[in-house]
Amino acid sequence: MSHNFKNLHIVDHPVINDRLSYIRQKSTSSADFRCGIYEISLLLGFEATKNLPTKKISIETPVTNTEGQALAYGDPVIIPILRAGLGLSDGLQTLLPRASIGHIGVYRDEKTKRPKEYLVKLPDLANKKVILADPMLATGYSAKHAIDLLVERGVSPCDITLMILVAVPEGVSVIAEAYPEILIYTASLDDHLNEDAYIVPGLGDAGDRIFNT
Ligand code: URA
Repeated sequence: MSHNFKNLHIVDHPVINDRLSYIRQKSTSSADFRCGIYEISLLLGFEATKNLPTKKISIETPVTNTEGQALAYGDPVIIPILRAGLGLSDGLQTLLPRASIGHIGVYRDEKTKRPKEYLVKLPDLANKKVILADPMLATGYSAKHAIDLLVERGVSPCDITLMILVAVPEGVSVIAEAYPEILIYTASLDDHLNEDAYIVPGLGDAGDRIFNT
């Protein structure tokens, strides 16, 4: 899909597209939804980590001394935005098993559609890259709220990557205007938000579908 967002990367991959179409379907069970989201998050995570800076290191193989590369800031910290972000953190943890995990709990007030924070539990973020994960970038308010919070705690926006399953232009604009440095990786840029702030065509309430509620 063509778009004018400089910071948005739509990861167009046959396996991602297949799994995304599967989990979009309302007939897909919660167990299969979780499985699909897990598979997509592995592939999206692979893309979202491709610009992590590396440094040269000296290594000794069983045969000789040589030069290798290491992640300059270690594994990035994975921060799912609860609750639906937990669906993405399983895949990210498989990809980066040594990563520290932070949690930011935000729910959407159904009347105001604004985020309400109920949990913040973060590891040391000094000198760390961060992957902030949420399946849906809808109004963008929850993601922006989580980013504001990280920035207040000293994280540079340049060190944050946003990993999303399904975004809409409205949400991408909110992030791009507030934080043009932040790269957003998504499997899809959908059409629009409906009057209830659900993504169209979307996949429904991601949290409800992950947790079978
Ligand atoms: N959150 C969801 O879970 N789904 C949407 O469509 C929008 C926000």
